[in-house]
Amino acid sequence: MVICVVAAVVVAAFGMNQGPLLFSDGQSEYSIVLCDDASISEQTAAKELQGYLQQISGALLPLVSNDELAEGGKHIFVGFNEEYAAKCGVEHPSGSDEGYTYRTIGDNIWIYGGKNRGTMYGVYSFLENEFGVRWYTVDYTKIPTTKTWRVRELCHSEQPFVQYRFVQYFNADYGDWQAHNKCNSATWVAENEYGGLTAYWEGHTFRLFITPEEYFEEHPEYFSLREGVRRPNEQVCLSNPEVLQICIDKMKHTIETNPLFDVYSMSQNDNPFPCECEKCRAIEEQYGGHSGIILWFVNQVADAINPLYPDKYIGTFAYQYSLEAPTGIVPRDNVVIRLCSFGFCFAHPLNECKYNEEFVPIIEKWSQIAPNLYIWDYVVNFWQYVAPFPNFNVLAENIKLFKKHNAIGVREQAAYQSNGGEFSDMKAWVLSKLLWNPHQETQKLVSQFIKDFYGEAAPYIQKYFDLCQKQVKDDTEMIFYIDAHNPLYTDKFVKESKEILTKAQQAVADANEEMRLRVDMVALQIDYLRLYRTPQETLADGTYDWVWAFVRKHNIRIHEMQDIEKTIQLYNENYLKK
Ligand SMILES: [Zn+2]
Ligand SMILES: [Zn+2]
Repeated sequence: MVICVVAAVVVAAFGMNQGPLLFSDGQSEYSIVLCDDASISEQTAAKELQGYLQQISGALLPLVSNDELAEGGKHIFVGFNEEYAAKCGVEHPSGSDEGYTYRTIGDNIWIYGGKNRGTMYGVYSFLENEFGVRWYTVDYTKIPTTKTWRVRELCHSEQPFVQYRFVQYFNADYGDWQAHNKCNSATWVAENEYGGLTAYWEGHTFRLFITPEEYFEEHPEYFSLREGVRRPNEQVCLSNPEVLQICIDKMKHTIETNPLFDVYSMSQNDNPFPCECEKCRAIEEQYGGHSGIILWFVNQVADAINPLYPDKYIGTFAYQYSLEAPTGIVPRDNVVIRLCSFGFCFAHPLNECKYNEEFVPIIEKWSQIAPNLYIWDYVVNFWQYVAPFPNFNVLAENIKLFKKHNAIGVREQAAYQSNGGEFSDMKAWVLSKLLWNPHQETQKLVSQFIKDFYGEAAPYIQKYFDLCQKQVKDDTEMIFYIDAHNPLYTDKFVKESKEILTKAQQAVADANEEMRLRVDMVALQIDYLRLYRTPQETLADGTYDWVWAFVRKHNIRIHEMQDIEKTIQLYNENYLKK
């Protein structure tokens, strides 16, 4: 089940401190060799390797092609080349395209893997593991420097734990950050210098195919029936054959005009009102419920698409009313079921809490019938992105649970609309690491991030972080839209946190603006809570002015469904005019 092969670092052939110097005092005898058939991402990786090694060591290693290669020199080979590999005894890359190996053979270092992204990931892991480079945020890469580095015997191979890895944070939505942290999915498509991304076209798409503007007047019967009335803005009538034909035609057109995506969504709209007409009801009865009719419909679309686009997938949701798996029907091989962990408790893993008892039977049943199960998971509080949401301890466990049930992809939906969510930089980075390999210790990753990211405030941030996680008790229920008055937040917790974070802010009072901003972003978590819990006090002590000025200045969205001005307006109406 677990396909991640973890580091095997052996010190043998060279003995301790006996290997050749990769660089010393700004000089190097090595060159970086790029094979002539290098892919775009391999070219990017080789150039970046040169740049990072120069920043680490001060030495500029020449970048050469294997035509220019002189016999007898010392080299870092980037990418696999048949001719040279045969000479050096390197075996052909195995495993998925994203797997990689870096190893020493004699004095030379080889970094190679799949051509689309594997070699590139190998280069980034080499820089991470051997030199401590960390791509924490799109603006902050930690690059340690060192004068001397000796080549020791290395043999390190990895494969991704989950095939499609998507961290849906606003601050993670950059091709370079994603590549460096081995995320390979996005809402957008790119064929870029990092080997491109794997993308899932849209979601809640019935509204895009059967639009009320185009059809409702002439064909109200295309739309869902509820309480005897056809409704233009709810779902569609899936048993209507004309609806099916329109959806097939429009899906063909969508794929033709947006050919770079892997999976195309044909899925229910974002509301809980399926069609209640007699024909729809009969199909639901035949196939075990709401998901049954959806799958019956989506399978027919998938059958129509398959001969034209055999490499493409049709995706649909198991969400809200369609969460339960159907009976008597199974998804086609080219159908992806996107199961959503909507409405469950995120204080505890999805297989461990009394509020989550329904989830495991649901995922088990889907995994038995779905050839491609893709999980849409939630990792933040969508009603108050900036408030504490202590779910760090469930992230890895849930990823393992998804994979145990054959998930091919995981989308971690987070604060996707703006910067400034609760620990958003840290959670994005930690998630990227865990999607690649959830057997890492989350607490170690967190502590490493805090130490490197928060400067002099790090001990206080760590203390505050630990206090947040401790608010989770056995009977805590933490769904993804709790408010500031939730029992998770006690007066004692808020008071202690405020004291710790005040010290954190004082510790960086003389630091640069960027560092103060990072710490203020954490302090916002508690000042935001105080605003709602003790409105008069925070109006008097200046917190009111500070919080709203801060979120306006940095454009920090609080609530998924409200812009900042709306949130402030509602606050003023409900909390001040009493
Ligand atoms: Zn119907
Ligand atoms: Zn729970």
